[in-house]
Amino acid sequence: MRNIILMGPPGAGKGTQAVNISDTYKIPHISTGDMFREAIGNKTPLGLQAKAIIESGGLVPDSLTIALVEERLSHEDCANGYLLDGFPRTIAQAEALKQFGPKIGRAVELVINIAVPDEVLIERIAGRRVCPKCGASYNIVAMKPRVEGICDRCGAELIQRKDDNPESFKVRLENYYAQTQPLLDYYEKEGLLHSFDGTVGYQNLQEGIFALLGAER
Ligand code: AMP
Repeated sequence: MRNIILMGPPGAGKGTQAVNISDTYKIPHISTGDMFREAIGNKTPLGLQAKAIIESGGLVPDSLTIALVEERLSHEDCANGYLLDGFPRTIAQAEALKQFGPKIGRAVELVINIAVPDEVLIERIAGRRVCPKCGASYNIVAMKPRVEGICDRCGAELIQRKDDNPESFKVRLENYYAQTQPLLDYYEKEGLLHSFDGTVGYQNLQEGIFALLGAER
């Protein structure tokens, strides 16, 4: 059961848990947000289309996002499992994944949701710093890197995301409730959903998720 979707509102701790799950279970961490940011950095056609949308907190059109994920999941490194972080974000994306997933041998087996109330999210986003190279996340108050401003995992300089500002965050949260939260019901009905309280502390949350995923590494 290692074809996994990781869900939760922005700031729930998906990125942090994703890095640990991916390292521990040796499955690729596929973050659509990271893929878009890389495309923006490389000024590819996709990046140029996505840049303004992402910086304002909007959602990239389904057609572009679905094509990106379908292509990525078809890679050989996803044959023994994958961890999707930030996809699907709309019912249309979930429906597409349900269609193409089984066709390419990548049917979703498990959905992990991290639930966190809004007031905690807002605080976390303000202090978030991320590694532009490996995708690791930190917080200047609650989860500092060993050396200030430097990624523990890969040594790159940490940055604050352009969309981690109060205006864009408000739009992202609204989008989450309007477009993404309905997916919880969707996956509940499919019998795939496992929800965790994301306020129990990083270590406790990780233990809960690892217990669900099992000891086999
Ligand atoms: P994230 O790193 O997951 O917070 O994603 C950053 C931004 O990338 C989002 O606010 C969206 O603008 C865009 N994005 C990432 N994943 C998706 C998706 N599945 N559908 C549409 N837009 C996305």
